Amino acid sequence: MTETRHADVVVLGAGLAGLTAAVRLAEAGLKVVTVAKGLGSLRLAPATIDILGYAPQRVDSPTASLPGFVAAHPQHPYSLVSAQVLAASVSWLKDHVDGYSYVGEPSTNMLLPTAIGVPRPSAVVPKTMVGGDIRDLSTVAVAGLRVLKDFHPALAAENLQAAAAAAGLSLQVRPVMLDVPVDGEVDVGTLALARHFSDKKFRTAVGAELRRALSDEQAVGVPAVLGLDDVQEVWSQFTEEVGKPVFEIPTIPPSVPGMRLAALLQARFRAAGGRLVLGAQATGPELRDGKLVGVRVAAAARETPRLCRWVVLATGGLASGGIDVDLAGHAAETALGLPVRGPGADQAAFLPSYLADHPIDTIGLTVDANLRPAGPDGEPVYQNLRAAGAIIGGARPWREKSGDGISLSTGYLAAESILQEAR
Ligand SMILES: Cc1cc2nc3c(=O)[nH]c(=O)nc-3n(C[C@H](O)[C@H](O)[C@H](O)COP(=O)(O)OP(=O)(O)OC[C@H]3O[C@@H](n4cnc5c(N)ncnc54)[C@H](O)[C@@H]3O)c2cc1C
Repeated sequence: MTETRHADVVVLGAGLAGLTAAVRLAEAGLKVVTVAKGLGSLRLAPATIDILGYAPQRVDSPTASLPGFVAAHPQHPYSLVSAQVLAASVSWLKDHVDGYSYVGEPSTNMLLPTAIGVPRPSAVVPKTMVGGDIRDLSTVAVAGLRVLKDFHPALAAENLQAAAAAAGLSLQVRPVMLDVPVDGEVDVGTLALARHFSDKKFRTAVGAELRRALSDEQAVGVPAVLGLDDVQEVWSQFTEEVGKPVFEIPTIPPSVPGMRLAALLQARFRAAGGRLVLGAQATGPELRDGKLVGVRVAAAARETPRLCRWVVLATGGLASGGIDVDLAGHAAETALGLPVRGPGADQAAFLPSYLADHPIDTIGLTVDANLRPAGPDGEPVYQNLRAAGAIIGGARPWREKSGDGISLSTGYLAAESILQEAR
């Protein structure tokens, strides 16, 4: 088995947590290699930074709600993230996604429609989505393209109007369906449509048809397919064509906004000298005298130790394979074999009701104040290991709408902890 050259840090995982840590560390001058089996949740999720949406009632201000929320959930990852770190991580993200402006602050949740018209509390979002904040609207149109089979404006409009009324908001929502031919195709995906929108002729044709279809609505929501790396230009020109404010509504996966964010963070990482190894899987720790000196990585039918001074584990939770649970209910952390905190041996992983708070929801690693994974005795398993993102247990991100806020802030904090040691 050959050993690969030494890095300062090996980051495992290329989701929001891993890329945040990797970019920060590389920009601080450390030699960083990011190893990832796949592309993570970034390309599937809406690319909004949801900090805290429900606790369990809908949250208007994450910063105001977090102290009480953390007091009630002392094992939650947010118990390790101060308000200052959360704010710093959000500012950091905004500074690192030039070309895809993010707006909003942890102090205030907007209410943005999903593809099925559910208003979703979210704090920090791409500028192209902000116009969909239903708190600021009284009449709005939701437009779909007939070739995009997974986006149904009639369903979104009906649900959004009902949900707005239930939230005490007076909102009129009208669906609009556009028949724009796309190379004679009857079924076109979000990524292909985003590429079509980069073509001025195409977006002018769609813009003209949409303008004709609108009446006195204040704004119009469209599926989030307005270009890829040229989104700002495409969005502003399309808005001009339509003649009134246009906002993007995240679609079901794959997510074009997520692809934009992933591409920007990967580009920042490479520009800072980082090395991204995709399609490679961490299979275990490389140990010398019980100390972690690297990670064993399997790629192209062979396993190689990658030596480094620090490791950041950002392999996601159950959804990304960072944690695996077998049919008998045994949980395992897949990259380094770390102890997992999950439902106890005498506890069922799932409850009978589908929408219940299932014990398995909070499965993940226990970490100390420096984000070092801890064993059952509470002591760090390895001094030079940090965990970030959905691999840390204690949260219910899908229910709380906290997933990307946790990943961003703990990725930022994991890098901070390593940088303090490196200094
Ligand atoms: C479809 C979808 C919609 C979502 N919507 C929302 C939402 O609206 N609001 C919200 O707050 N959250 C949402 N989330 C959750 C949120 O996206 C995640 O909680 C968060 O982004 C997790 O980021 P992460 O970096 O920790 O992990 P991930 O993004 O899951 O990345 C994990 C990375 O680790 C890699 N990996 C795993 N195992 C290994 C291994 N052994 N070796 C090497 N690499 C490995 C993976 O390939 C991947 O690159 C959604 C998630 C999905 C999938």
